[in-house]
Amino acid sequence: MTNQKGRQFFVLDETMSIGKPFDSRPAMLEQGKRIVCQRCGSSHHKPSVQLPIGCYYCPTCIRYGRITSDGQLVIQQTDLPAFDYKIVWPGVLTSFQQKISQQLVANCRQKKSSLVWSVTGSGKTEMIFETIRHVRQEGGRVAIVSPRIDVCRELFPRIQQAFPQEESLLLYGKSEEPYRYTTILIATTHQLLHFYRSFQLIVVDEVDAFPYEGDAQLRYGLYNALAENGCLIYLSATPSERLLQEIRGKFAVLKMPLRFHQRPLIVPKPIHYSRWAQAYRKKRWLRPLLQHLQRLVKKNFVLVFCPSIQLMKEMEWAVRRQEASWLITSVSSQDEKRMEKVQSARSQVYKVLFTTMILERGVTFENVSVVVLGASHPVFTKSALVQIAGRVDRKGAFTEGEVIFFYDQMTEATRQAIKEINEMNQLARSWLTDEV
Ligand SMILES: [Zn+2]
Repeated sequence: MTNQKGRQFFVLDETMSIGKPFDSRPAMLEQGKRIVCQRCGSSHHKPSVQLPIGCYYCPTCIRYGRITSDGQLVIQQTDLPAFDYKIVWPGVLTSFQQKISQQLVANCRQKKSSLVWSVTGSGKTEMIFETIRHVRQEGGRVAIVSPRIDVCRELFPRIQQAFPQEESLLLYGKSEEPYRYTTILIATTHQLLHFYRSFQLIVVDEVDAFPYEGDAQLRYGLYNALAENGCLIYLSATPSERLLQEIRGKFAVLKMPLRFHQRPLIVPKPIHYSRWAQAYRKKRWLRPLLQHLQRLVKKNFVLVFCPSIQLMKEMEWAVRRQEASWLITSVSSQDEKRMEKVQSARSQVYKVLFTTMILERGVTFENVSVVVLGASHPVFTKSALVQIAGRVDRKGAFTEGEVIFFYDQMTEATRQAIKEINEMNQLARSWLTDEV
């Protein structure tokens, strides 16, 4: 039981007597004809979830272990020792990052939650370090979570490096290390269902990403895991309308329009292309894409985003037939060599890499231009388009990267994505002018 310290677990036996007193509460609560799970918040019609022995269970969160209405959710909370130490990390904050960082600490002192709406490539992780230190100094426990495992994996070593005095743990569904009590937890948003009033600060990175966005259970888990006097920090480059609506009046919204290198975001060029979806069928239909690729590969490597795996493969073959000397490949979520290919792409091995939404976010390439084939397709939401455009000019000395959106019909998502990028650039210009 000791390795459960600091997180909630389900028991049928109410007479727990190990260590400090345990807080417990019923695992499920009856509300008339319905029964509500206290771990994931989902509500069920009683007869549909009744077991032969008469009690009820929750099918929604059963993959975290079955909980039933005759048991309790139990947690052993512990007071943490406060620490005072310097943050160690190799970089320094720009004056603009510093400004956001200070506002976050001030908000946290007032127990006010914040959304950092910060452009792709702005170095948002570094801006939360000072708040983490503040919360730890007060003896609070911190969770840094994301819907995406790859984001968690990338965050973990950076947090360890910045907070070497702290015990930290990386936790996700199939993580190799089992749970243990730590002052800082880095985890997927799903893992928060195992906690109750446990963290004084929860940072949610890429809050707009699948599967957290719009998932009521995960949101319930997040609020359950937050201590009563705790606060939240959401980080996102592309918050959805739904999220902005949800936090309106409750969260402070801090916009960070400047990338770390302080160059503006690359504004996408929308180009009309009526035959993009059939382009692989006829040379004539392929020409518009091919002409742009021929121009772009002269200066950098090109990522071509396609709305489906099938189209991605057809296009890969069609372009290869025309340009046999180019090293071309494709990568999707179903590709076993996905990691190796992304690594090779980082080393500038390919001329053209066809891909799907998997490379939409979380990856940084240098010397790259981006083409979206069919920006008008519904898979390309406004957020996806802003993220994809954000792959270009993230770092390095090369600044000639381009973003091209091929479309057959101009969509609201495309229009809004370009508008949002322009607005952020405008805000960035005003910040830079103020600074001078
Ligand atoms: Zn449940």
